[in-house]
Amino acid sequence: TDEIKETGETEGEEETQTKVSYNIVFVTAEAAPYSKTGGLGDVCGSLPIALAARGHRVMVVSPRYLNGTVADERYAGALDLDCCIKIYCFDGVQEVSFFHEYRKGVDWVFVDHPAYHRPGNPYGDSYGAFGDNQFRFTLLCHAACEAPIVLPLGGLTYGENCLFLVNDWHASLVPVLLAAKYHPFGVYKDARSVLIIHNIAHQGVEAAVTYKNLGLPPQWYKALEWVFPTWARTHALDTGEAVNMLKGAIVTADRILTVSKGYSWEITTFEGGYGLNELLSSRKFVLSGITNGIDITEWDPSTDEHLASHYSVSDLSGKVQCKIALQKELGLPILPNCPMIGFIGRLDYQKGIDLIASAIPELMEDDIQFVMLGSGEPRFEGWMRVAESTYKEKFRGWVGFNVPISHKITAGCDILLMPSRFEPCGLNQLYAMRYGTVPVVHATGGLRDTVENFNPYANEGSGEGTGWTFSPLTKESMLVALRFAIKTYREHKTSWAGLMKRGMAKDFTWENAAMQYEEVFKWAFTDPP
Ligand code: ADP
Repeated sequence: TDEIKETGETEGEEETQTKVSYNIVFVTAEAAPYSKTGGLGDVCGSLPIALAARGHRVMVVSPRYLNGTVADERYAGALDLDCCIKIYCFDGVQEVSFFHEYRKGVDWVFVDHPAYHRPGNPYGDSYGAFGDNQFRFTLLCHAACEAPIVLPLGGLTYGENCLFLVNDWHASLVPVLLAAKYHPFGVYKDARSVLIIHNIAHQGVEAAVTYKNLGLPPQWYKALEWVFPTWARTHALDTGEAVNMLKGAIVTADRILTVSKGYSWEITTFEGGYGLNELLSSRKFVLSGITNGIDITEWDPSTDEHLASHYSVSDLSGKVQCKIALQKELGLPILPNCPMIGFIGRLDYQKGIDLIASAIPELMEDDIQFVMLGSGEPRFEGWMRVAESTYKEKFRGWVGFNVPISHKITAGCDILLMPSRFEPCGLNQLYAMRYGTVPVVHATGGLRDTVENFNPYANEGSGEGTGWTFSPLTKESMLVALRFAIKTYREHKTSWAGLMKRGMAKDFTWENAAMQYEEVFKWAFTDPP
């Protein structure tokens, strides 16, 4: 770490404050705009830039995914560093090389290996998850541990005295490697690691016999050991023994963060911990949560290049133009005053798609329009197609991953629905509020932390709140919240404008989140557990 002297003035007197700058290494399976399937990509594409802008030296290490062997244009700016290293794992020697692009103050480092060159997203293709993901992400972790020592970025390595930000299970071997492979030789002894949990439902669990492939000493097995309960075993002879990558990071990282405060509590409960709740409770003295920010330049209704018309909190007139443009593009009847509800996200059980499907027949009896954008489980994609042909005048289901359309829906709709079963942070409700689109969400995790329930009577009748939060997660309570929102939109224009404006005025910037991250970094370096 380096110390930067900052001079500030307090009550006329000059005061010198010491601001510490860190050498930060993000390790992640996704970083937008290079790779993204969800919030992890957004966070690892934006938070590094916000931290670099605050004076830290920041590197992001992620795989160089190529769809085939031809260089992908996403990585066109990243040049081969001509540095090839050997990694001993999976019963052999693997050679990986590094590519690098310096952009927006950040060193974007891409690990190159043939295992990352195939069609599909970072984790799988239309046949499901890749069978060798444990191998692919073990390589990433080994390479990321070497990067600060071996890569002379801008002529200078990051060095050992750095801070690793370990994102989800794909990066979880990093703190285990620091403890088991490097510390015994005195390397990285002053480094720190912070695990960031974006989604605890994915833990990187594989058969116990794969432990020997990970490049770890045998005596560290217990750090990853994972025993399935009897009911989850497939055979009477099955001992339930497995290895769990995320568990390895939970027991070895210096600090643990989640992407909202509410979620940091939820993962310590039986319902939210996916088997890791007791372990996390035992580490709650190093566990906390920081709500994600959003990229306010990419998501700005006054400049957004994807929109038909621009608007802002002081002039909302362009929003209805966005709605009309969306109706035209989707072939829906042009009805500027018709309440339009949107959904954007992965078509996954987590996101409550089954609940939406069960409510659609009743909702479609009302004079509303409903637009969904998403890809994921084939059963939900199929349902969306059927719903579109059943409710031709009112429903559109766009199957696919399409960033411009996600902006158009966020701007064009009046209401954004998020009935997630659990939501570590959730970004779409933040984008929606910034675009004057009122969120209706299940009261869980980051959704509960960021959406304030509407109360028309507060503040001497001028109202408070930015949306609706409903609970429990049932079709009935979701419909009550949605109908309350629809009625307010139709009949109480002033209340609606208040809801929109309060949401648009919220500060969800990354700068705010980055300052909170700095507090955790300071805590990790000054007060080791
Ligand atoms: P999660 O990480 O669980 O998928 P988040 O709400 O944290 O959920 O982040 C999802 C991100 O992915 C948002 O930026 C959202 O706009 C984007 N996204 C999800 N599905 C799609 C899609 N089909 N097309 C475009 N963007 C999408």
